[in-house]
This record gives sequence, structure tokens and C-alpha cells, in this order.
Amino acid sequence: MIKTLLLSALAVTLTAQASTPAHHLPDGTFTNTDGSQSDKPFSELMRWRSERGDLPLDEYFSDARIEKTLTALNYRPNTPIPDAPERGAVVTWLGHASFLIQTPNLTLLTDPHLTSRASPFSFAGPKRFGPKPMDVNALPPVDVVVISHNHYDHLDKRTIKALLKSQSSEPRWLVPLGLASWFKGVGADNVREMDWWQIEGVGDADVHFVPVHHWSARTPTNRNKTLWGGWVLKSDDLDYFFAGDTGWSSDFRDIGQRLGPFDLSSLPVGAYEPRWFMKQHHVNPAEAVDIHLAVRSDRSIGMHWGTFQLTDEPYDQPVMDLAAARKAKGVSADEFFVLPHGASVQVDPP
Ligand code: ZN
Ligand code: ZN
Repeated sequence: MIKTLLLSALAVTLTAQASTPAHHLPDGTFTNTDGSQSDKPFSELMRWRSERGDLPLDEYFSDARIEKTLTALNYRPNTPIPDAPERGAVVTWLGHASFLIQTPNLTLLTDPHLTSRASPFSFAGPKRFGPKPMDVNALPPVDVVVISHNHYDHLDKRTIKALLKSQSSEPRWLVPLGLASWFKGVGADNVREMDWWQIEGVGDADVHFVPVHHWSARTPTNRNKTLWGGWVLKSDDLDYFFAGDTGWSSDFRDIGQRLGPFDLSSLPVGAYEPRWFMKQHHVNPAEAVDIHLAVRSDRSIGMHWGTFQLTDEPYDQPVMDLAAARKAKGVSADEFFVLPHGASVQVDPP
């Protein structure tokens, strides 16, 4: 009898171990698919902060350089939102990692951020250096909001609260594992936490959460306790990939093989200098072009630049580096491009 009980207890333990995904650690944190975890020691952060003192930061982030970047971005404050298309899709860049995706049957928002700082504080932290393209209240009814991870430039409490207030019916919030309680805490009810490769059906579309190479933290004590990832939308009108924040990894070949090709992708091209510090978690434009090729995207929009100053490259550097990377890798400017804030791309139905 005791032997039988012990055997069944062992079986339960083994089953539990076998069913725990490798990226879920026993301490409640998550890892990347290669087992790595963000583990930058404080000394490296200090080295970055001290070495950046040698850079001509006054020139990099001068008013003249901002002006040049805003001109390149052809800022369009208060751009009217396009109507939902009758066929295909319209994708509008709202700055940084925020996109409005409209198909005939679905309106989806990615990492919505429409306030003035990427920070826990309204008075300090990285400030938006141009006007925001529109107010949260100007957004049309949104069916689904997807969140890539909890960093302040991707999960903005003031924007989420404003959405909860302004939307006539609450959107469906699709969030990485561990973030539902944060959403419940700000008053959201319609939340689903997802693990990598899980799928949510929304109308006639499927939304997939996929692995990318990054990390998470919102406070000094919650590092990697919530998951991070990218999102894929598959529908008759649009196959779309949103990469969130990421370093280069073989995850993109997997995503391309399992869910590609895509009509359109949103890929990060900013916040990548200095490389020795940023490379692990933020691709540069050359690596973004590698992602574009690996996931098999017809076209890609460069995002995560031209909105907040997060790292050491000058505001307008990503555009120049993207042009050089395209040339080196034989990708055309029609294939991988940047948009002005508030500008849209049309995707024809297949
Ligand atoms: Zn991040
Ligand atoms: Zn980011």
C-alpha cells in the first residue's frame, strides 16, 4: 500500500516536472529560450554611465538634432485615424512600439503609449521629444490590446487607464504570463495571460504569443518575474508580426517557420548603443534586417526609435544605420522602412 502511494507520488512529481516548460524556473522567474536571463551586474551599468560621459551628448541630443529628426519623421500631430478598410488592413504607427492595426473585422493595439514620459513618474524619466501623434480619446473602438512586456516604454499605466476610461466597451487585454494582476490592479477585467506559443481566437483571427530575446522588470525586486514576447496576428486579411523588444536570437527562424511568412512586421531599430551593453536585449538596424529575413516578412516597419531617448545613439542614427544595413543585405527601401508618426501602411488582401 505504502509502496503504491510512494510510486504514485513519484509519478505525479515526474509528470509535474515534465510538463513545466524549460523557460519557467522554480524561483518563479522566466528565461529566454536559450536558457539565458538578464544578469547585467551593477558594475556594467556603472561602466556604461561613466563611458557615455566621453560622448558628445550635447550635440547628439541638441535641439538642432531633434529638429532634424522631427523633419525626417515629418511629425503629424493629431493625424485623423483612417477608417477600417473593407478588405486587407491598415496599420498606423503611433510612435515607439505603438501600432493601431485595423482589418474589416478587428482593431488591435500594440504596446499603447500616448503620454509624455516612458517612466513610472510623470515628472522625470525619458521624455517624448516630439508631440504625440494623437490623444488616446481619438482612438476608434479597440477589440484587442497586446502587451509585449512590462518595461515602462511598452506598458504605460496612464495610457492603459485612459483607454479603460475612453473605450465604450473594455478591450480584450492579451498579456505575458505574470501581468494579469497588474492589469486587474488598474481596473481591467477582460485580461488573458499567455505563455509562448499559446493562441487566442478573436473573431475570425488568431493571435499568437511568441518567444523573443529580452527580459522584464518594473521595480528593483521583480526582474524576470513576468514573461516577455512578440505577437503574431493571423487572419484572412493580414498576417502580421510585432516583435516587441528583443536582441537577436534563433527564435526568429522558429517564428518564420511556424507562423510565417508575414505581410507586414513591426521590428525594433532603436535603443542599441553602446553595443557591448545593449546587444543582448536590443537589436541594431542590421540585426533587425536579419529578423525581417528570418521571419519571412514581405515588408517591415522600423519602430522603437524617434520617440524617447533611451540609449546613446543620436535621435536620427537609426534611420542612417537602417539604410546602410539594407544596402549591405540587399533589402530594398520599399521592403523595410520607417514611417512618420501617425502615418499608415495599407496591406492588400491576399
Ligand atoms: Zn524592454
Ligand atoms: Zn523598449
